[in-house]
Amino acid sequence: MSQRLTEPLAKVLGARTAGSLKKLELETVGDLLRHYPRRYGEPGQLTRIGELMVGEHVTIMAEVRSATVRTMRNRGGAMLEAMVTDGLDTLQLTFFAKRPGVLRMHEDKLRAGRTGLFTGTVGEYRGRRQLTHPDYLIVGVDAANEDEAVLEASRPIPIYPAAASVPTWRIGRSVRMVLDPLTEADVPDPVPAHLRERHGHGSLLESLRDVHIPDDAAAWRRGQARLRYEEALVLQTALARRRAVREAQSSVARPPKPGGLVEAFDAQLPFVLTGGQVAVGEAIAGDLARDVPMMRLLQGDVGSGKTVVALRAMLQVVDAGGQAALLAPTEVLAAQHLRTVRLLMGALAHGGMLTAATSATRVVLLTGSQGSQARRAALGEAASGAAGIVVGTHALLSDTVQFADLGLVVVDEQHRFGVEQRDALRARGERAPHMLVMTATPIPRTVAMTVFGDLETSTLTEKPGERADTATHVVHADNEAWLTRTWQRIREEVDAGRRAYVVCARIDGDVEEDVPVGDVPTDGTGEEEPAKVPLAAVVEIAEMLRGRPEFAGLRIGVMHGRLSADEKDAAMDRFASGAEPVMVSTTVIEVGVDVPEASVMVILNAEHFGLSQLHQLRGRVGRGSEPGLCLLVSRAPEGTPAYERLNALVATTDGFALAEKDLELRREGDVLGAAQSGGRNSLRLLRVVRDAELIATARADAREVIERDPALADHPALASAIEQWLDPQREDFLERS
Ligand code: ADP
Ligand code: MG
Repeated sequence: MSQRLTEPLAKVLGARTAGSLKKLELETVGDLLRHYPRRYGEPGQLTRIGELMVGEHVTIMAEVRSATVRTMRNRGGAMLEAMVTDGLDTLQLTFFAKRPGVLRMHEDKLRAGRTGLFTGTVGEYRGRRQLTHPDYLIVGVDAANEDEAVLEASRPIPIYPAAASVPTWRIGRSVRMVLDPLTEADVPDPVPAHLRERHGHGSLLESLRDVHIPDDAAAWRRGQARLRYEEALVLQTALARRRAVREAQSSVARPPKPGGLVEAFDAQLPFVLTGGQVAVGEAIAGDLARDVPMMRLLQGDVGSGKTVVALRAMLQVVDAGGQAALLAPTEVLAAQHLRTVRLLMGALAHGGMLTAATSATRVVLLTGSQGSQARRAALGEAASGAAGIVVGTHALLSDTVQFADLGLVVVDEQHRFGVEQRDALRARGERAPHMLVMTATPIPRTVAMTVFGDLETSTLTEKPGERADTATHVVHADNEAWLTRTWQRIREEVDAGRRAYVVCARIDGDVEEDVPVGDVPTDGTGEEEPAKVPLAAVVEIAEMLRGRPEFAGLRIGVMHGRLSADEKDAAMDRFASGAEPVMVSTTVIEVGVDVPEASVMVILNAEHFGLSQLHQLRGRVGRGSEPGLCLLVSRAPEGTPAYERLNALVATTDGFALAEKDLELRREGDVLGAAQSGGRNSLRLLRVVRDAELIATARADAREVIERDPALADHPALASAIEQWLDPQREDFLERS
C-alpha cells in the first residue's frame, strides 16, 4: 500500500474525528476509502416511513412538513415537534431543551418543504412513531456555498454503514476530505492495466470517487461494478495462487491394491453401493493414486452414505501401506464413527487378533478425555503403524500424536473444524497427506464452482436405502393445546418402542451454547441488536417434562456440551438402548448421531436456529424404517425471516433445495457466514450468488495472471491487495469450505 493510504486518520482528520471513526474500525485513509456507502439517497426519493419498525436505528430521507416550538406547562422547559413525511405517512421528530432559544436553531433549519436525512432510533409515544433528538442533515443547507448546495441537492447522497455515534454525513464529509487531495500515484491499482482495459474499467481512484462522490446514479453503479470486479479478482488470484502452490507440493501416491482391504470390504458389505458412491469412490481412488495431494470436498445430504465412501478411501491408503485419520467435530461423533467403522469392517478391523481376516488392520480411537491407559495404547498403535485407521477429534492433532505414515486425513463435518488444526496436521508430515473433507451442509453449485473453485467437489445426490420421509410441522409456542399434543405424540412414539429428541438452545438458564452465528440475520452494520429471546434450557426443560402427565413413568435423559466424554457416551447408550427413550439435548446432536429408532424430534425456540442447522437436526430422526416427525416450536411472527425459514423446512426435506432457499432468505453478505460480514478484511460488494458470472470471469483472468507471474512479482499492487485485504484467516476460510 502506498504511503497515503496507510496514513492514520488522526493525522489527516484530527484526533476527534478519527476517534469517532475508530468506532467503525476505520483507522487509516485506506480503511476509510474502502468503507463504501451501503446505499444512495436520491433527492426526491423518500424513504417509506410506513415500513420503519420501532426499535430500529434508521437513516431516512423525508420532507419536512412542519416544525413548532412549544413550552411545556407541567414539566417546564421547551420542546420542538417537527413532522416529516414521505408523502404517505408521517414521523414525528422531537427535541427537548430547557429554554426555547436553543430550539430555534433547529426550527430555522427544519423548514417546511425541505428535504433531509434523519438518523435515530425509532421510538413510540402515544401510538405515534418518532425519533427523539435525531441527528439530521438538510439537503443543501449545510453546504459551503450556493453552488455546492445546488450540486448537493441534485446528487445521490451516499448513505454509509454508520454507528449511532457517527452519522452517515459525518463519514461522508471525512471521506471527501481524504479523497480530494489524492492523485493516481497515491492509489496503486490492484487490477492490472491490461485487465482494466479488457473490461473497460477506470482506475481505482476514479472508482473510489464514483462511489463516494457520485455525480449521478450511473457513476456509483460504474464505480461499484469496477470495485466488485476488483474484489473478485483479488479473491480468485489468492485461490489461483494457492492452487499453484498445492500442485507443486508432493504427496505419496496410494494406488489401489488388487486383493486388498478395499476388495475384501466391498465383498462383505451388506448393501450395494449406490451409483453415486461408486462414481465418487472412483474419483477419489484416482486422486489417491497421484503424488499430488488430494483436496476434495465430498458433500451429500444427511444419510447420503458419505461414511462408506470415506472408509473405502481410508482402506485404499491402508492397502498402500499408509495410515488414515478420521476427524470428527465432537467426541460423541468420534465415538460413533469408531463404532460405525468397526461394525462395517467386521473382522477386517481385528488386525493382530485371532479372529482377524488375513489383511486386517486395526482401528483405534484417540480423544482428549479418554483414560490415560487407553490413550497410551492408542498412541502407541498410531506411532507404530499398527493402527491403519485412527479416529478422533482435535486431540488427534496435538503434538504428542505421532503417525508412522499418515497418508490420508478425512475431516467430517468440517464447518466445525478450524483450519489451523488441519494445517497443523498437514505440517507434521514430510509430505502432505491427502485430504477428504465431508459436509452435509450443501454448498450450492454456484458457490462451489465460483468461490471455492480451486477445490475438487463431489456430491452424493441420492439417498441409499428405503427411508421414510420426515414430516415437519410448526407448533406455535403459545398454543397450549398443540403443545400438549406435541408431548402426547412423543409418548405415543415411545410407547411404540421408538425414541424422541427434545432440542433446546441452551444448557441452563444463564449459559449459552451453540448459538448459531451464520444464519442470524444481522447486516453487520452495527445498527441492530439481535432480539433477546428467553431460550429454553436443557436442564429446565428436562425437569418440566418429568413433571408432565404425558411423561409419567418415562425416563428422560439429558445431553449437552458440559458433560464429560464418558457421560455423553453413557447418555447416548441409554438413549440408543431405550433405557432413557427421551433425550433433552442441545445441538450437540446436530451432526451425524445415528439412532435408527429415533422417530420424533421437538425443537424448542426453533426460530432461533438457522435453516441448515434445523435441517441437520431433523436428519437425526426418520433414519430407520419408520417415518420421522419433526415439530418446530416457535413464536416467530408471520412474515419474518425466521418464519420463512421454518416454512421452507416444512415444505421440503431436500437439503440442496434448502441450501438454495437459505441463500435466498439470508441478507446479502451472509453467504460466506460470519467471515464476510463486518471486519475490515472482507468482501464488501461482491455477492457470490448474484455475481457468479463476474466471479467466473475474474477466475479466468486470475489464472492467466498466476500462470504468467506465479509470484506476482510484476503485480505488486495485486499482491499487496491479497495480503492486506484477505487476511490469512480469511484466505484459509475460502479453502476450508
Ligand atoms: P452420511 O454420513 O452421509 O449422513 P451415512 O454414511 O451415515 O450418511 O449413511 C447413512 C446410513 O446409510 C448408514 O446407516 C449407512 O450404513 C447406510 N448406507 C450407506 N450406503 C448405503 C447403500 N449403498 N445402501 C444402503 N444403505 C447404505
Ligand atoms: Mg456422517
